[in-house]
Amino acid sequence: MKLRTKIRLFSSILILSMLILVNTFVYFLFYKNATDSQLVELSLQTDNLIEQLASATAAEETSEVINAFLPANGMVKVFSSDEQALEFKLKGEAYRTLEGAFQTAESQEIIRPERGVHVAVVTKPIIWHDGSVVTLQMSDHLVALTDTLRILFYVLIIVSLIILIPTIIGSNILNRLLLNPIEELTRTMKTNIKERKWKKIDHSNRSKDELYEMEVTFNEMIDQLRDNYERQEDFVSNASHELKTPIQIVKSYAQLLERRGKDNPELLEESIAAIDSEADRMKRLVEQLLSLAKNKENVVHEPIELVQLVDHSITTFKQAYNREIEFHKNIEKLNVLGNAGQLEQIIYILIENALKYSEDKIAVSLFTYNGDVIYSVKDYGSGISPEDQERIFERFYRVDKARSRETGGSGLGLSIAKEIAESHHGKLTVESAAGEGSMFTLVLPAMKKADRENEK
Ligand code: ADP
Repeated sequence: MKLRTKIRLFSSILILSMLILVNTFVYFLFYKNATDSQLVELSLQTDNLIEQLASATAAEETSEVINAFLPANGMVKVFSSDEQALEFKLKGEAYRTLEGAFQTAESQEIIRPERGVHVAVVTKPIIWHDGSVVTLQMSDHLVALTDTLRILFYVLIIVSLIILIPTIIGSNILNRLLLNPIEELTRTMKTNIKERKWKKIDHSNRSKDELYEMEVTFNEMIDQLRDNYERQEDFVSNASHELKTPIQIVKSYAQLLERRGKDNPELLEESIAAIDSEADRMKRLVEQLLSLAKNKENVVHEPIELVQLVDHSITTFKQAYNREIEFHKNIEKLNVLGNAGQLEQIIYILIENALKYSEDKIAVSLFTYNGDVIYSVKDYGSGISPEDQERIFERFYRVDKARSRETGGSGLGLSIAKEIAESHHGKLTVESAAGEGSMFTLVLPAMKKADRENEK
């Protein structure tokens, strides 16, 4: 069953049962009050009659008194102990069939001899003029009450209908308010799935309620999905493009060797060196791609001693590049919470870039400031223009493609570094001026006191 039908059905049944309950209650409350007051009145009338009968001594006298007290639509019957009806006087038709008998107990009740007829009956024992105990039964046909009850019944039905109609209209409006946005959302999602689109929901002219929130969140989700999808596509096409060049070079050299390399030792040597270098480039590229994918995974963070890690990296680079690297620090031991492999990677990327893109010495510094850890690498190279500074953290972005090929750069190093910084809740920034060199700075948050204590 559709949600729309369910809401409609549920609200109608609920309102209908409430109306039936309230109307029944009102009807019976009125009925009880009205009949009670009629019985009290009839009982008083009976008492008055009994009082008058007490002073009557002869049969004619009693008959006159009873006639005088006979209700407008009523009846008076008197029964002796031998079940004889002594007096029988009536005005209306309703109680012709009413049964009566001698009884010594008092009673008062409402009798319905037939449908729609209400008769109040009061029965009391009295001393008859001949001294015997008899039963006096006084009845009154409640004509007005029957009419009033009928009118009340119709009024309640009309009022119920009047309430029911706006309720049904209201539930329809509510249905539309609630379900239209949900249906629109489902429609949009189906279109997106079927037509492979990034369609969003138009939520202008809508009140800012929970459904509006849902639509805004859906649109944000679509934006995010499209963004991720496009980045993924870019990434795959960039990666395959980057791999295409070295593969092409390897293939060209292989063909060259096949044609002319067998008896040309010089060409053979050149080709082997080129193939080796391109294989190295591909290996590095694949490693970096893997690293990008791996950095996305949840890695274990633990306390890492950073001074030793930086010191060790500098020694390695000094040996490999045979270049001057200064190391400035204001602390001998410094723990940060992080992943050893990733932190080593970011230290390497920044030093390697500084060495690649400058020829002079470089300076590495490690400081603590206000509890934060600041690692920076400064070089005195050509620097980076402000426009390029904004883009160098993008994947595969290289300022000078030709130069990068020489240095073996893929344009992935800084984007990896940035992701590592962010996964460590840190920040990686660059300051650079053309011709004066660049300084890359990584700020990592201080290790919290609780973490330091855990470490001990
Ligand atoms: P690559 O592998 O090409 O070095 P990176 O992501 O590490 O890729 O760097 C992106 C680009 O930023 C590089 O191609 C280079 O042009 C520029 N760059 C990075 N570091 C420096 C630096 N220290 N000095 C000048 N340019 C730099």
